[in-house]
Amino acid sequence: MEFDRDEIRIRGLRIFAHHGVLEEETRLGQTFIINATLFSSTRKSGCGDNLEDTVSYADVCLFLTDYLQKNTWKLLEAAAEHTCEALLLAFPLLRQVELEIQKPSAPIPLPFDTVSVCIRRSWHKAFVALGSNLGDRQAYLDGAVEALRANPLIRVRQVSTYLITKPYGGVEQRDFLNAAMEIETLYEPEELLDALQAVEQTAKRERLVHWGPRTLDLDILFYDDLVLDRDRLVIPHPDLQNRDFVLKPMTQLAPRLVHPIFNKTMQDLLKALPDG
Ligand code: AMP
Repeated sequence: MEFDRDEIRIRGLRIFAHHGVLEEETRLGQTFIINATLFSSTRKSGCGDNLEDTVSYADVCLFLTDYLQKNTWKLLEAAAEHTCEALLLAFPLLRQVELEIQKPSAPIPLPFDTVSVCIRRSWHKAFVALGSNLGDRQAYLDGAVEALRANPLIRVRQVSTYLITKPYGGVEQRDFLNAAMEIETLYEPEELLDALQAVEQTAKRERLVHWGPRTLDLDILFYDDLVLDRDRLVIPHPDLQNRDFVLKPMTQLAPRLVHPIFNKTMQDLLKALPDG
């Protein structure tokens, strides 16, 4: 997201709060020092000079103070993780945040300046394939879209039309209803897979035969321009370039999106299929 590389920086915000592993830390409290870098395009606010077009650093400072005072965590890691997530959810123009929480009075019996945890978290763009060929197929796809919309860590950006397609993989079965969706998410790739599988489970997915009938199938097609090969998860989806029922809806959503391995756009991959 090239346009979101502008930075708004907060340095040295002092917050008296009660985080720590030791009992007296949570009882007595201490001062934490926050450095935050907010990544968001400042082009519009820069040209138009309007506060509503930017992430207000004053609002972010008030939010950080309130949030870190209302909650208590043992670890700075947990304080940083939850605070980043809360910031990204609360400020819609914020694409990415880097947050450092310093603890200059940490209980270390040695001379030191400060200790801190610094993390960077962001919204990620992903594409998900949806398919169903059992029962009320449209209701299963609608239900999946609704379930993902209801998840605060997912923002559904676009949903393609639903396509009726012939089954794939040579198993005799009913036609599929297929679609694709564009989302933004705060989940890491494997967490997103967990979230999708939980939705599949609620659709009581039955998979007795590989490539056989299923009430609901949700696959991660792309996650930013990540290339990942793990036991549980391969991104981009390893077979998407062979599937017209994926490439057709993807061509609706993002025709010029480039596959990070084949270096071809969705419309070029679709054209390259035998009957494309
Ligand atoms: P299927 O539902 O038949 O597409 O396959 C489900 C299995 O594929 C799951 O157990 C996942 O762990 C694995 N898998 C690997 N890569 C992906 C991906 N990109 N999206 C969804 N599932 C994946």
